[in-house]
Amino acid sequence: MQGLAAAAQRCEKKYLYREDNLVGSDDNLIRFYEALLAYYGPQGWWPGQSDFEVVVGAVLTQNTSWANVEKALAKLKEAQLLEPEGLNKIGPEKLAQLIRPAGYFNIKARRLKNLIRWFCQTYGGSLRVMAQNSVTRLREELLSVNGIGRETADSIILYALHKPTFVVDTYTYRVLVRHGCLEAQSDYEQIKEFCEGHLPQEVQLFNEFHALIVRVGKEYCRSKPRCEGCPLSRFEHFIEE
Ligand code: SF4
Repeated sequence: MQGLAAAAQRCEKKYLYREDNLVGSDDNLIRFYEALLAYYGPQGWWPGQSDFEVVVGAVLTQNTSWANVEKALAKLKEAQLLEPEGLNKIGPEKLAQLIRPAGYFNIKARRLKNLIRWFCQTYGGSLRVMAQNSVTRLREELLSVNGIGRETADSIILYALHKPTFVVDTYTYRVLVRHGCLEAQSDYEQIKEFCEGHLPQEVQLFNEFHALIVRVGKEYCRSKPRCEGCPLSRFEHFIEE
């Protein structure tokens, strides 16, 4: 959310809006999705080898690249700790050393311990049992775990539990605000509600769309946008003054 707030401040200063185009047409989002999919093809997310690895990866990926997360996951695998019981038993200091390549390792070790402890106590370490709950309940539960934010909670629900919840990040914010779909002051829940309200509630579509937005965000829709050649450049967008 800090990332979204900072992006909001920058966009408020630099971008122009036309009142009659704030929401755009109702099918804009699906057209963005189709254009991105046609340009990039399926992204094959999430890049974890198991659903539990996705849960761990969702915590480790905060503020770092996936390449660094992979190194940390490899260390956990090597130590045969990439499973709920082992992670629940290991001490936070030892865990921090193993996940060191992912950065912010002391904080992430504490967050991971909190999450795994809750997961083992509440669901006996079973994602299959956890997935029997509704998205609303799962979100409430995950957000009550100390250190688990909205993006991490939604990533776990979508990519590890395969249930329909839209994952929002800074790239989602940038693309949608720059295309006049949302106001610059929109927060996480408003962006999520907008996306879910303008798309079919399909797990595969939510999965692919978020991955595609991350791709276009990294390659084109950076803090300084590179609209030329971008697969979304044919849709109306608002450029820096
Ligand atoms: S066309 Fe420009 S504003 Fe739109 S997604 Fe691409 S880089 Fe971002």
